[in-house]
Amino acid sequence: MSERHFCINCGTPLVATIIEGREVETCPNDGFVLWHDPKVATAVVVESNGGIVLGRRAIEPGYGLWCLPGGFVNDDEDPAGAAVRECMEEIGVPVELTGLLGVYHIPKSTAASMIGIAYRGRIADGLIPSAGSEMLEVGVFTLDMLPPLAFPSHQGVLSEYLRSRALREELEPRPASGEVRRARPPSRSRAAPTRRRMR
Ligand SMILES: [Zn+2]
Repeated sequence: MSERHFCINCGTPLVATIIEGREVETCPNDGFVLWHDPKVATAVVVESNGGIVLGRRAIEPGYGLWCLPGGFVNDDEDPAGAAVRECMEEIGVPVELTGLLGVYHIPKSTAASMIGIAYRGRIADGLIPSAGSEMLEVGVFTLDMLPPLAFPSHQGVLSEYLRSRALREELEPRPASGEVRRARPPSRSRAAPTRRRMR
């Protein structure tokens, strides 16, 4: 263990201790254990107008690169609630979660490792995403035009999304030729012009 830490209760220097086969630091004064717990983060593949919503980051890490909306879960939040909150902060629209894509371990060497929880979601027709303070811009990308993403974990989530989407399309075959698809009822919301990118 390279860094030296102190007890958050009493300030005593912690000492290396083996607990259940793992080396951790404990307080010799009151027994405090500095567990190396992972942080929990969410990421959401948000479907909109046949594409998905990505944001270009205005902060490090990954400044200037694209990412899925999402972020860290606070200790008083349900992960799904945290995902919806982060989407509201980052892309400025209410997102309805429609499924769980997966739960992943994201190892980090210089910070706490993470548990990533990835959801699929959508925004209502007519709502236009807008960039929150942590984004330079947001955009809706079609699946064949996706930019490289800032984080390998987000790239993995996107791959999982594309796999699950292909599977769903296999399970729900398109209507046979000649069959007419029922049109959507007219939307009451103001029709949004289709734009590739929104600031
Ligand atoms: Zn202590």
